[in-house]
Amino acid sequence: MANDYYELLGVDKSASEAEIKKTYRKLAVKYHPDKNPGNKEAEDKFKEISHAYEVLSNPDKRQKYDQFGENAFQYGNAGAGAGGGGFHDPFDIFQDVFGGNFGDVFEGMFGFGGTRRGGPSRGRDLEYSISLSFLEAVKGTEKNTKVRKYDVCSECGGTGAKKGTQKITCTACGGRGQVSQSSGFFSIARTCNQCGGAGFVIKDPCVECGGMGRKEVVKKILVTVLAGVDNGTRLRMAGEGEAGTNGGPYGDMYVSISVKDHKFFTRRGYELLYVAPVSFTQLVFGDEIKVPGIEEDLSMTVPPGTQTGQIFRMKGKGVKRLGGRGHGDELVKVEVVIPTDLNAGQKKILKEYEASVGKEAPKGTDKFFSKIKKVFK
Ligand SMILES: [Zn+2]
Ligand SMILES: [Zn+2]
Repeated sequence: MANDYYELLGVDKSASEAEIKKTYRKLAVKYHPDKNPGNKEAEDKFKEISHAYEVLSNPDKRQKYDQFGENAFQYGNAGAGAGGGGFHDPFDIFQDVFGGNFGDVFEGMFGFGGTRRGGPSRGRDLEYSISLSFLEAVKGTEKNTKVRKYDVCSECGGTGAKKGTQKITCTACGGRGQVSQSSGFFSIARTCNQCGGAGFVIKDPCVECGGMGRKEVVKKILVTVLAGVDNGTRLRMAGEGEAGTNGGPYGDMYVSISVKDHKFFTRRGYELLYVAPVSFTQLVFGDEIKVPGIEEDLSMTVPPGTQTGQIFRMKGKGVKRLGGRGHGDELVKVEVVIPTDLNAGQKKILKEYEASVGKEAPKGTDKFFSKIKKVFK
C-alpha cells in the first residue's frame, strides 16, 4: 500500500465526506470482482480503494491518517507483509456504502445476488482499548490483555466434524458452494442448495462446537505498543480478531490508546514540552541547569541575559516518531521564580540594585515576550 489514499480515490485532501463516498461508489462498482471475474488486478484495486475508503470515510481515522499516514493503520503483525493480507474485508465496507442493498446492485446487472453466503467468511474485528502512562506511550511498552472471542475449535481443528471424521465435499457443487448456468452473455451463479453455499457437508458434527468449527474462548494477547503512540492512536493487530467461519480468515483486532497526563511533561505531536523553574540570577549570569529527559536528566546551558519565558530546543530529545524516522525535540521554557522569603540583608541589596537601575524594565522587552507567546502556544 504505497499509494496515498486520497490519490487512490482520486479526491482532493479537502474533499467532503459526501464527495469521498460518491467517488468510492463509482470506483467500487467499476472494480468489483463480480464485474471483473478472474481479473487479479481489478481485485487488488478493489481492495485498495475499499481500504482507502474505510479510512477516509471515518472522520476519526481520517484525522489519524492525515497526521500519521499509514502507520496509524498498517501496524503490528509483520506477518501481514507489504500490501498483503490483513485488510478489512473490502466487501464489508462495500456493503456499508450500498446500504446493504449491494446484492441488488449486481442482481440488476448480472442476474445473481449476494456474495459467498455459507462459504468461508472472515472473522469479526475486535475493538479493545488500553490506558497507558505518559512515558509508556513515549517509550513504547507491552501489555498483556485478555480477550473473549470466537477462535478455531481445538477439538475439531475448525472442521466442525466430529473427531476422527471429516467433512465431505458437497457432490452437488463439487465444493464450490455455487452452481452456475449460462444465460445469454452471462454465466449465472447461485448458491448451492445442498450445502447452503459452504461447499461441504458434515455428517457427524463436533460435540465441542456443534459443527460450527469455532467456539468462544478467553485468549491472552500481548499488545506491543510502539514508542511514539499518542492519545487516540488506534493500532491494528492483523489476524488477532475472531476466527472466520467455514475456514475463512481471522479478523483483526483494533486497540485504541488513551494516555494519562504527566506531572511535568506535556506533548505536542512528537515535541516534548517542559517548563524549567530558574532564579533571577541564573538568568542574569547564565548557568548550566539540569532538565528531565525521557531517558535521563539532560544538561542545558542558560546563557547570560536570558529572559524568563525563553524557549530552548533540545534537538532530538523529544518523542520517537511512530514511523521510525528519529525523534522530535524537547522544548524547555525557562521561567523565573520570584523569592518570597528574603531576609533584611537580601532586601537591602536588592533595594540598592533597584536604586542604581531604576524600577522600570529595560526598553524593548515587550517585543521579546510577544514572540515567545507564539512559539509555546
Ligand atoms: Zn469443533
Ligand atoms: Zn454444494
